[in-house]
Amino acid sequence: MAQLSDDCFAFGGALMAVEEAQALIAARIPPAEGEELVALAAARGRVLARELVAPLPLPPFANAAVDGWAFRHADLREDGPTRLVEAGRVAAGHVAAAPVAPGQAVRVFTGAPMPPGAETCVMQEDVSRDGGAILVPPGLKRGANARPAGEDVAQGAVALEAGRRIGPAEIGLAAALGRTHLAVRPLPRVGVFSTGDELAEPGAALGPAQTYDSNRFTLLALLGGLPCAASDLGILPDDPGRTAAALAEAARTHDLLLTSGGVSTGEEDHVRAAIEAGGTLVFWRLAVKPGRPAAMGMVGGTPVVGLPGNPVAAVVCFLHLARPLLLRLAGAAGTPLARFGAVADFAYRKKPGRREYVRVTLAEADGVTQARKFPREGAGLLSSLTESDGFAELPEDVTAVAPGDRIMVLPFAGLL
Ligand code: AMP
Ligand code: MG
Repeated sequence: MAQLSDDCFAFGGALMAVEEAQALIAARIPPAEGEELVALAAARGRVLARELVAPLPLPPFANAAVDGWAFRHADLREDGPTRLVEAGRVAAGHVAAAPVAPGQAVRVFTGAPMPPGAETCVMQEDVSRDGGAILVPPGLKRGANARPAGEDVAQGAVALEAGRRIGPAEIGLAAALGRTHLAVRPLPRVGVFSTGDELAEPGAALGPAQTYDSNRFTLLALLGGLPCAASDLGILPDDPGRTAAALAEAARTHDLLLTSGGVSTGEEDHVRAAIEAGGTLVFWRLAVKPGRPAAMGMVGGTPVVGLPGNPVAAVVCFLHLARPLLLRLAGAAGTPLARFGAVADFAYRKKPGRREYVRVTLAEADGVTQARKFPREGAGLLSSLTESDGFAELPEDVTAVAPGDRIMVLPFAGLL
């Protein structure tokens, strides 16, 4: 991947609005380059490197949409049933032996090519038989029960745009267009560190002042749902020299580094200084709650996102900083988090000038999604994430929420 210059940003110093931070990322992280070919079976989650132009129309030929009979619409009477003589039969995968003549109906089955001359079908359930003829009821529109060639995708149309994340539907469409492989962007290499003298590796014995590292596992799991190759770089002690050295070393073999903890103003917070020692600080401190102490910088041409240590704050900042940055490196810019409207079932006061993410549980009442605030607020409460359903997003200018207010919710489904 392209090496970025460490000083392509300037650190302004003030608390930065989330949108400003995202705009900075979008403006300065160059779009992804390079491509590799992957088989459809391995394409899920990858990012399409080039648009897919349909080499053929879909469906490739006009075909019957029902089991029934095909005929010429011009033959139908408007004032009553039309008697058509049965002539021929076409099953799916076979070709009609002859065109349909006036007054004739060809027996067809779903997916069978329309016999030349016929453009309309009747369902077998709607027909009464009369010896070697059928009686077609009046009222069928021209082209009824038939699928014209290219009605799904026209030949030469852009079926999938570059930059799109490939899911089951994209894989199916590519297969329908005859592709076995797709050109995708290379996966950015993302390294994840935890920081803190208090952290122990799960499975190890816990010392008297220790807590198990959870952020690294949450972050690696979040990365598992994104187009990247993530590596676990372990726990860094609260030591300025070792933090700076580890970042500089990892920057050589990664396209993005994530840390958590050690990015606040305490004497044992060394991530910000380590970024400054090895490169350039782009911004530090976001106007967001939870998540204020977050930093971004460049070390050795590699972006570094310093996420807060508190687990909920780390998740919020991952979603709003690390995720868009990573998607940009992966070539999938413009993939916003899913949000939906809900009605607040709580009262809340907040300071203006910062965005807040309030954990909520969701319930449906009379077809309306109601969001109820999770009762406990701490940024360190892991159980607040497992026991709630999403974040209510309260914008910078909002100072109060009252029951019944319309709010936007970021659902955890598919994310956490
Ligand atoms: P810090 O920003 O380093 O002061 O950390 C803030 C809080 O988050 C402290 O209580 C830390 O113990 C906690 N914390 C930091 N990193 C992690 C981690 N990887 N897993 C769990 N908790 C953490
Ligand atoms: Mg710490």
